[in-house]
Amino acid sequence: MTDCLFCKIINGEIPSQKVYEDDKIYAFNDIDPQAPVHFLVIPKEHISSALELSDANAGIVAHIFATVAKLAREMGFADGGYRVVNNCGADGGQTVGHLHFHVLAGRNIGWPPG
Ligand code: 5GP
Ligand code: ZN
Repeated sequence: MTDCLFCKIINGEIPSQKVYEDDKIYAFNDIDPQAPVHFLVIPKEHISSALELSDANAGIVAHIFATVAKLAREMGFADGGYRVVNNCGADGGQTVGHLHFHVLAGRNIGWPPG
């Protein structure tokens, strides 16, 4: 999608610090990190939010979680633990309209959310 911030990050129009990439997904550091490790994982296909997931396209979510587990081991935060967050819609706190999962690690993240 031409005016989508994260689509522009995927195609390199907007620079980002890459954490991981394959043919289906892209992961990059959040510009405003909330933990020592804070990156975002996004599908290369434009999906506007978790609300747009269905059986037809939800396989990408399994791929994202499996990749995050692999990255946790490779990047050294598997033992400490981590949190994967998806914000959906206005009340969910979503500010960018391209499906993304936050990966937070490196400190105790705390619960419940604010
Ligand atoms: P949301 O609030 O939609 O769940 O998360 C959007 C996230 O995208 C925020 O954590 C915000 O810091 C991050 N973000 C917004 N614009 C940019 C950008 O241009 N580059 C990067 N790397 N992250 C961004
Ligand atoms: Zn997009």
